[in-house]
Amino acid sequence: MSAHIVLTSHPRRDATVPEVRWGAPTPEERGPLVASLTNPAARNVIGSHSGAYAVYRALAVASGALQRDHRPDLTNTAPAEAIGPHPQWADPDKIVSLDPWGHLVSTAFADRIAAGLDVRPTIAITKAHINMPELQAAVTAGRLQPDGAILSPNGDVRVTKAAIDPVWYLPGLAKRFGIKESTLRRNLFEQTAGMFPELVTRNDLKVFLPPIGGMTLYFFGDVAKLGRPETKVACRLHDECNGSDVFGSDICTCRPYLAHGIEVCIEMAQQGGVGLVVYNRKEGRALGEVTKFLVYNARKRQTGGDRAETYFERTECVAGVQDMRFQELTPDVFHWLGITRIDRWASMSNMKHGALTAAGIEVVERVPIPDELIPADARVEMDAKKAAGYFSHYTPDANELAVPKGRGLQE
Ligand SMILES: [Zn+2]
Repeated sequence: MSAHIVLTSHPRRDATVPEVRWGAPTPEERGPLVASLTNPAARNVIGSHSGAYAVYRALAVASGALQRDHRPDLTNTAPAEAIGPHPQWADPDKIVSLDPWGHLVSTAFADRIAAGLDVRPTIAITKAHINMPELQAAVTAGRLQPDGAILSPNGDVRVTKAAIDPVWYLPGLAKRFGIKESTLRRNLFEQTAGMFPELVTRNDLKVFLPPIGGMTLYFFGDVAKLGRPETKVACRLHDECNGSDVFGSDICTCRPYLAHGIEVCIEMAQQGGVGLVVYNRKEGRALGEVTKFLVYNARKRQTGGDRAETYFERTECVAGVQDMRFQELTPDVFHWLGITRIDRWASMSNMKHGALTAAGIEVVERVPIPDELIPADARVEMDAKKAAGYFSHYTPDANELAVPKGRGLQE
């Protein structure tokens, strides 16, 4: 380890830093994003690779398990399917929260990497088979038919999947939220307890790799068809809910709706279109699981029992807000994929729908979760959301919202 600590908070005069022109039409003109700490003088962004996992990297280096100057060998890591470029990539306003060239780094900047610059991918694209009991049940019930290509008789589904780390273009992000860039920078600096001083000292650096989770995309069907106007697209836009998604906890509709969304995606792929699940790491409305569980207790212990009329209020009591997901950045991934129309939209959220249509992405048909898939304890959440404007064919009235429908804490 070198004896001195290199501060990155002020520019070094001798640095030959590659210029970043966000929204430029080619990777050469846009320039590589250098976040690596192995050559600090070449850094042209704020933050570090791998989101929150940067902290584990610090532990690995601190404990001696990882060489601090290790550089990834990117041999054979190129995308398993091609995505883009799409015209939206060359518009600095359309994509502000991911790097559209993030999966193409090893080829687009091959000469720079060979010359010693540490440029790393922020997107990786691979292939897999998935299998969920709900899909096997759909086959048994006759709702899905195995075709031997997308869906096997044993319930295996062939997918392409992409992992995306967030890359924030700060001027564009500020514009989306209608705030000053300086306000955004100051709050990012303060709310991370000064973790990234460059946010306030380096106004010349416009790109920030935030220490948060990103998103995973699951594609069903031929990814190459995306971006063509004739391609029909089905989509489920899903925010992480570990308790339901993984463990089948029944207080919400997350996993049932996700499974239903995948069913809709498989159908679309079998009809020659493309299905897409966007899975955002925004646990508990981006409030985190600790806050989420505190809210569950507050809901179930309140006088009068767990009921829809106080659903949002109980969240706001604990968190100060009802929701911190914000949908301002939602359109970016669709712009990245060249999607201008979604034919079947498996989401009831009026906020997600509004964000897409405001960005000029047409939503043809909205597909609510079928009633029979809603767990009993999740009625509270579903009624509250419907009353608050979620898309559905039925909106509960005030009398119904006052009826306790959730289980007690000890039941
Ligand atoms: Zn949930």
